[in-house]
Amino acid sequence: MSAFSTAQVQTGYDAAVPQNSAVPPIHQTAAYEFASLADAADVFALRTPGNLYSRSASPTQLILEERVAALEGGASAAAVASGQAAVALTLLALVGRGGHVVAAEQLYGGTVDLLQDTLADLRIPVTFVDQDDTDAWRQAIRPETRVLFAESVANPIAQVLDFRAIADIAQGAGIPLVIDNTVGTPYLVRPVEHGADFVVHSATKFLAGHGSSLGGVVVDLGTFDFGAEPEKWPQFTRPYPRFGDLVLQERFGIGRAFVPLFKTKYVHDLGPSLSPFNAWQILQGIETLDLRVARQSATALILAEHLAQHPKIAAVHHPGLADNPWHGLAQRYLPHGAPSVFSVDLVGAEEAFPHPRVATVIDALEVFRLVANIGDARSLVNHPASMTHSHLSAEQRAAAGISLNTIRLSAGLEDPADLIADLDRALAHA
Ligand SMILES: *Cc1c(COP(=O)(O)O)cnc(C)c1O
Repeated sequence: MSAFSTAQVQTGYDAAVPQNSAVPPIHQTAAYEFASLADAADVFALRTPGNLYSRSASPTQLILEERVAALEGGASAAAVASGQAAVALTLLALVGRGGHVVAAEQLYGGTVDLLQDTLADLRIPVTFVDQDDTDAWRQAIRPETRVLFAESVANPIAQVLDFRAIADIAQGAGIPLVIDNTVGTPYLVRPVEHGADFVVHSATKFLAGHGSSLGGVVVDLGTFDFGAEPEKWPQFTRPYPRFGDLVLQERFGIGRAFVPLFKTKYVHDLGPSLSPFNAWQILQGIETLDLRVARQSATALILAEHLAQHPKIAAVHHPGLADNPWHGLAQRYLPHGAPSVFSVDLVGAEEAFPHPRVATVIDALEVFRLVANIGDARSLVNHPASMTHSHLSAEQRAAAGISLNTIRLSAGLEDPADLIADLDRALAHA
């Protein structure tokens, strides 16, 4: 018999006995117990896989990683606390010391902040290019370039990336192409089929799908060989003192060397770990990903077609519409339909902050909720110029296709007729 105080923290649970839980359990523990010191030393030295501390991973998170890797057709994955952390740590792990990034001008506002402000603080240079200008991508590449970065379908104007064209440039230069597939989702497009090397996600959006949990994932698609030009990637191809002089590329091989560096260096050192509870919620969300995305994409196209005929709307930025500049690329790369995140421009001259006409319409919406998020079960509305993309300069906004009249919509799971009625009623106020 243990004493009361001993029993209250130890009795009834044996860390070695699985519980046959049909649904992945939430492993809500900060750390993991080792059978022996020898076992602990092996796990710490990456000689054997194993759980050690929830900053590195939890078993709930490992299930999520395997699942997202499978959905993207990749080799391995790492999950973190947010999409922002997935993007930031992926870039840090690939640029190493002295590397340079080439990125599309058409990006989520938080990623622009990261690239032009925080990476600049860290002396990581970034060149922005128009994602449709293949010559600009080619010309921006320098000997020290280590990443090409773009979104599969850009937030908020829904420009569709010509994956193949950019992937060919990346391959020719021996540089990995990293795709943010948050808006695209692996149900609508799998970047691995079009030459990408890594995919990042804000799992907060369509993967989790219900607006309740933050998370991010990076997938190593298994296509990029750091050993082809080993001098460019010393972090993977040279003995690494902090891992007992292990050479990550030799130990783990193509498609599996990136995740150990990402987790045991960057997540370990900087700390943006995914909570087991959020990992579990994202897993729950993923179980209905295809159903939700198919329904939301169909609804968004109905809304876009309706809004294209509306006298108060000057432009609808939806690549499913035949007159959209990216319609051809959408037909080629998005056979299941275009994403449910798209934008419209109100008619009339652009008005500076506080944008009275835009505000009148947005504030009149009742079914669409004014929320800085996308991919929720609820339909959401956002004004990029004063919300998600408010840190961009006027020139950067113009390059991304965003005006002061641009309103972003994210179609949810409500009845399309209710959404159309809501938009019509709100636009009547304009
Ligand atoms: C939201 C978003 C991010 C950032 O993800 P968080 O989970 O909010 O940190 C990155 N990229 C895109 C395209 C996004 O929409």
